[in-house]
Amino acid sequence: MKNAFDEKQLIKLRHNLHREPELSGREENTAKTLIAFLQNQRPDLLVTSIGGHGILAVYKGEVSGRTVLLRCDMDALPINEDEKLEYRSMISGVSHKCGHDGHMAIMCGVAKELAVSRPMQGTVILLFQPAEETGQGAVRILKQLKYLPDQCFALHNLPGFQLGSVITKVGPFAGASRGMIVKLTGKSSHAAEPQCGNSPAAAVASIIFYLERICDNSTGTIGTVVHVRIGEVAFGTSPEDATVMITLRAPDAKEMDFFSNRVSEQVIKTAEEEHLMCNIHWTEEFPATSNSEFSTSIINASADHLGYKVTALTRPFLWSEDFGHFTDKFSGAMFALGAGLNTPALHSSDYDFPDNLIPVGVAMFMEILERSLKL
Ligand SMILES: [Zn+2]
Ligand SMILES: [Zn+2]
Repeated sequence: MKNAFDEKQLIKLRHNLHREPELSGREENTAKTLIAFLQNQRPDLLVTSIGGHGILAVYKGEVSGRTVLLRCDMDALPINEDEKLEYRSMISGVSHKCGHDGHMAIMCGVAKELAVSRPMQGTVILLFQPAEETGQGAVRILKQLKYLPDQCFALHNLPGFQLGSVITKVGPFAGASRGMIVKLTGKSSHAAEPQCGNSPAAAVASIIFYLERICDNSTGTIGTVVHVRIGEVAFGTSPEDATVMITLRAPDAKEMDFFSNRVSEQVIKTAEEEHLMCNIHWTEEFPATSNSEFSTSIINASADHLGYKVTALTRPFLWSEDFGHFTDKFSGAMFALGAGLNTPALHSSDYDFPDNLIPVGVAMFMEILERSLKL
């Protein structure tokens, strides 16, 4: 295979994407930068504006065969960048703190390889997916996707693991998560006469303490209170209503249903005891990402062949990925690439994707294609 790899060009592309981060669902300029790059890589088909600002670059082999989809994510996060990077974010309050800029650069590297070494057999779909962080992008893409892959693969960089190592697992890989919005309504009163109203404050406190009690890191069932509002900022008024937002996490779909029911029942019971009206709304649903044995074996064989260290997880990660919507529908697998033992954590303001991972990601995806298209 002729090597088209130009690391400097991909690093420059990553830095350009890093300078102009865009939030979930608003990846317009990111898409423009990617389209300009991909047009030079001569895909057989370039589909834009799929599922929002998503892009598909399709490479077809000379003879028909299997269809393999590789997916990367495009969105940034509402986090201020505090690094004094030369290529720091130019958008105040928004930055690539999950490394999706690096994932896009890797996928562009794959496109560059395919431009000079087209698949002999089968079809490769490179998917640039918007809105991963909100769990909406994959669902939108899947509604419009006309190519149904035989297998799909994705990667995520991961601090806390040796740089360039490969982390895999058969079965549940990343956990399920669900946003729970609880609205409690009582009765307002003068702050001098709280006994004349019915404030939801005590019920909110009770729900918060309940979640702290039942969280279990050893099983991966976790309820995290992410936002609370009680009444309005008015010192003269005892509040009428409250909103509590909770992220529920569990290792798989069955556990998630069980955990959601358990928390809902407790919330409803607490509201009843306090004579409050209770309304529960669910949002940002991420199914568990479940790796097929077959696809995981291809990832393992690819890493072994390339000489990368492989770590097989015994338990799924607690974080979720909307790639779970793909593994729900198609055979596939996700793997992580170690981003360095002492690299700041994902979603922290001092995190930055390590450029050294770009060639590792490209090599892994190319090796995976080599093995999965032939079958
Ligand atoms: Zn993230
Ligand atoms: Zn991410």
